[in-house]
Amino acid sequence: MAYRVTFIPGDGVGPELSEATRRVLEGTGVEFEWDVQEAGADVMDKYGTPLPEPVLESIRKNKVAIKGPITTPIGTGFRSVNVALRAELDLYACLRPCKYYPGIPGAFRGTDVTIVRENTEDLYAGIEYEEGTPDAKKVIDFLNGMQKKQIRPDSGISIKPISITGTERIVRFAFEHAREYKRKKVTAVTKSNIMKFSDGLFLHTAERVAKDYPDIEFEDRLVDNLCMQLVKRPSEYDVLVLPNLYGDIVSDLCAGLIGGLGVAPGANIGKDVAVFEATHGSAPKYKGQNKVNPMAMMFSGVLMLRYLNEGQAADRLENALAEVIKEGKSVTYDLKERRDDPTAVGTSQVADAVIEKMEHAS
Ligand code: NAD
Repeated sequence: MAYRVTFIPGDGVGPELSEATRRVLEGTGVEFEWDVQEAGADVMDKYGTPLPEPVLESIRKNKVAIKGPITTPIGTGFRSVNVALRAELDLYACLRPCKYYPGIPGAFRGTDVTIVRENTEDLYAGIEYEEGTPDAKKVIDFLNGMQKKQIRPDSGISIKPISITGTERIVRFAFEHAREYKRKKVTAVTKSNIMKFSDGLFLHTAERVAKDYPDIEFEDRLVDNLCMQLVKRPSEYDVLVLPNLYGDIVSDLCAGLIGGLGVAPGANIGKDVAVFEATHGSAPKYKGQNKVNPMAMMFSGVLMLRYLNEGQAADRLENALAEVIKEGKSVTYDLKERRDDPTAVGTSQVADAVIEKMEHAS
């Protein structure tokens, strides 16, 4: 039976990448019934919002979605459409595997780090007070009244809530993922020496949860030290579990280690709903040029196939992608030694090459 999956082409370069990804997913032989949903800057006029309700309804119903990137239009009341989507569906775990594939210029051999980022709390909770507003003044007066340390009156304030509930479920997710994918170690990443009551809570909760998984090694690192070590010896790390902000920053660092945003996939996963999407954004300056790399979204498709328990199809697609990368012929500009290499191909040609590899393998 075909899988019914919500398919969101997105905007900017999203529709080109989504089309290329749809083709390779169908090329695996798995059957899909795509429930195509419009979201993003291009539908603002039609719906008055970049995130119309039918999109959310469709994902809630189908439980699985794959999406192209979405631009956050200025002045819509959304900090980010993507953050809003994750909040609406309580997609609390952001999974970003960063794996080295031979043939990518500048990538670090042996890197195979899976990032598990908490998606709902921390400085991304969206609780902020703008400098000079009555609310900011109220918050500052309240805090200054209860502590010796004084906040300057001309401050803006962002709140960083980290809860035991939120931390426990993300750390459990990381350990369960490690078990399922036969990973050996989970590293909790914080700045608990400075933020004792938020990051400290994250660390202590992680230490407690780790006791339930004696088969998997557990350690912790301070985020600054981790960044330095990742750049020097990425192969020492396996699964990283991080609060929201560090997760965001470290995933871009790891995307750099494996060759850039063009090959960095992702998934946002909740209790029984999952949305698969690349780490990168809508790269609006390349819109409609058949230029950018669809592999990050295709690798997100590999994650989706694994989520659907279509392991063989996932392997087929992943192997085909790895072969195309290794051959270095049918790759976009970002996977060439020089970005102005005239032999770089376009988005849709990458899909053709990947499909051909899958056909040859079967
Ligand atoms: P971006 O990731 O869209 O692009 C930054 C640069 O990275 C591009 O100019 C390009 O040089 C490179 N790049 C990105 N994707 C690439 C690909 N597939 N192949 C080759 N090169 C690629 O980041 P941005 O410019 O900061 O954001 C643009 C818009 O996207 C913003 O509105 C932002 O809110 C949104 N955004 C959306 C998502 C999402 O949908 N999940 C994620 C991040 C940003």
